[in-house]
Amino acid sequence: GPILQARGLTRRYGGVIANSDIDFTVDYGEMRGIIGPNGAGKSTFFKMLTCEVPPSSGKIAFEGRDITGMNVIDVCQLGLTKSYQINQLFERLTVRQNLEIAALGKVRGKFRLDLFRSLARVPGLDEQVSHTLALVNLTHRTDTSVSELAYGEKRRLEIGLALATSPSLLLLDEPLAGMSPQERVETVALLKSIAQGRTMIIIDHDMDALFELAEKVTVLQEGRVLVEGTPDQIKNNA
Ligand code: ADP
Ligand code: ADP
Repeated sequence: GPILQARGLTRRYGGVIANSDIDFTVDYGEMRGIIGPNGAGKSTFFKMLTCEVPPSSGKIAFEGRDITGMNVIDVCQLGLTKSYQINQLFERLTVRQNLEIAALGKVRGKFRLDLFRSLARVPGLDEQVSHTLALVNLTHRTDTSVSELAYGEKRRLEIGLALATSPSLLLLDEPLAGMSPQERVETVALLKSIAQGRTMIIIDHDMDALFELAEKVTVLQEGRVLVEGTPDQIKNNA
């Protein structure tokens, strides 16, 4: 079956219907893009998938398990991880330490830091961290404090933190936002390499980048799925 299956997802805020009766299915190994104009309901939809926001009605299944109403941390433990916001960077710690915390913890905030400090070395952790550092091209920054990283490097580290939890489904919320054209090109290439053998969902405003990255794109408009298909199908529809 699919890795993620949402049925009839609806979310209301008072009188505002942010998402209305959305059906959404992602297969294992797929790279899915989500686009839509401002106010289309992308953030709300994403937050329902990550369980940050409960749906008003509808159901979400992850790897065949009903995760509707579950909390973010439990869902992360199951292997559904969102980059950004969940994984905050510890500015005064090194890149390696941040990755170790993410790999060990899969949980957020202070608890994660306490866990890190209290745990002895875990077998395989060095290998996992080295592997992740190579994936996000930060090997040369391993022992650098996060506060000394350039903006683009911090953004790559955020992706690395999510990867360090070994997610079976990785959700990226606007991974290209705020980047220079050069950083965008580099990050698209990076995401392409990371996508090999992984399942990912990416929301971004950069339509060209999404069309280059995603095998299938879901276009949201006014809280509904307007159209869904390969980048070529979407372009020919427009
Ligand atoms: P997008 O991410 O595509 O810009 P959003 O999901 O942020 O769309 O918003 C969709 C609609 O839902 C908008 O009308 C927005 O104002 C409304 N909305 C989103 N979040 C809230 C909230 N927490 N409270 C009230 N209205 C909200
Ligand atoms: P993002 O695109 O990252 O969600 P926004 O600035 O659109 O950032 O929204 C910030 C927060 O405010 C989100 O949690 C969103 O759900 C909420 N929000 C969006 N629209 C409204 C609204 N009309 N009323 C109240 N909260 C809103």
